[in-house]
Amino acid sequence: MYDSIDLSQFPSNPEAVAGYVGGYWPTYNELCKKFPNAHHLSIAVNKSQRARCFDIEPGNAVPSDGPAWFKNYGDDSEGPIVIYCGASASQQVINAMSSGGIARSRYLLWSAHYTYKEHTCGPGTCGYPQADGTQWTDKAMGRNLDQSIVSDAFFGTAPAPTPTPPEPADELSICTVVNADGRLETFVQTDEGQIWHSWQVAPNAGWEGSAPGKVTKWQSMGRPGG
Ligand SMILES: [Zn+2]
Repeated sequence: MYDSIDLSQFPSNPEAVAGYVGGYWPTYNELCKKFPNAHHLSIAVNKSQRARCFDIEPGNAVPSDGPAWFKNYGDDSEGPIVIYCGASASQQVINAMSSGGIARSRYLLWSAHYTYKEHTCGPGTCGYPQADGTQWTDKAMGRNLDQSIVSDAFFGTAPAPTPTPPEPADELSICTVVNADGRLETFVQTDEGQIWHSWQVAPNAGWEGSAPGKVTKWQSMGRPGG
């Protein structure tokens, strides 16, 4: 994902772009027009702008602005809410969100950490709190261009819907047991609550009233008592 206040700095076919909805450089709408096929991330630079991402950094917003912006202006219609901040401020931002009632799981953290090596901030890489995306350079392609690596959660790949368990069969429930003498016996409950059963006449032999291996005769046991 690329961002820059100068639209001429972007590569010709970026996968994803980020831009401001307001402030001194409102690039977002122009970016959408210029790169219609890219993923777009809108960024708010103050606490009363509607966007998907909130830019918390000196000169824009402060960490304590985070929770109110999230509740009142965070736009999650295109994907999860994103909070942007410098990596060294990540923990402070996470704490401010948390004390405002916004759990870490409710937003993506996009950190800025210019190591000029592609990485996502985290305890296992640079030691800063775990981010979901990291802006790791402000000189991508030797230009005045920021580049970030972001997780799949940023764009497009919506979480898979929770699988619905199959409906239980509503006509029959079946259970087979082994009797003490080794004969199989099968019980079936109909949706009216009637229980029927059939049984082998001897272990590994045919079933009562049927050809071997085929169940053709059932005997009703009525309904369970109670
Ligand atoms: Zn880092």
